[in-house]
Amino acid sequence: MASSYRLVLGTGNPGKVDELQALLADLPIDLIPASSLEVPPEVVEDADTLEGNAQKKAETFHRHSGLPALADDTGLEVAALDGRPGVHTARFAGPDATPDDNKRKLLEVLDGVEDRRARFRTVVALVDEDAVHTFEGVCEGTITTAPRGDGGFGYDPLFQPDGFKQTFAEMPPDAKNEISHRRKALDALRSFLADTD
Ligand code: IMP
Repeated sequence: MASSYRLVLGTGNPGKVDELQALLADLPIDLIPASSLEVPPEVVEDADTLEGNAQKKAETFHRHSGLPALADDTGLEVAALDGRPGVHTARFAGPDATPDDNKRKLLEVLDGVEDRRARFRTVVALVDEDAVHTFEGVCEGTITTAPRGDGGFGYDPLFQPDGFKQTFAEMPPDAKNEISHRRKALDALRSFLADTD
């Protein structure tokens, strides 16, 4: 890939920005967080798929900045809820829900439910003047019966990845970044960029 590649991150979520920056730190990319744009554009995430929302965010930031843009959209897919909340994960407890509201609601709807399997699915979209590329990553796990840990963001205190005794919020950030849905999506992006001049 080109030695100096400027890429706008199409997200204002500080937790995501930290993870994306850590996950791409070894690449020769100059990452520009949305917060450093003079007037970051607003994006209404109203597509009915993760792919659609990731693409919409990346396209908006690309149009706004004139630079290649990267955005992700992530959903929590709970087996006992037939894959919900999925694309509605951010608004699970309502349009203005906080992360705490969402976690409370998830524990409520899964109260007494034995099958607590769930997965995080991330779709990353890369948009430049030539094309739109999307990359997917999945992390399988279970929903705990109570929040555990102070790290991470969003639903991390309720998500215990398969093969681990800690929730994402109990893991050091590097450990989450080794196995996460976002890591897997970015590994696919990384392979793509490695093949691009
Ligand atoms: P969005 O991708 O920013 O729309 O996020 C969708 C929802 O998933 C929000 O409630 C986020 O807090 C949550 N979320 C996204 N990524 C993660 C993660 O890595 N861990 C926990 N929650 C996440």
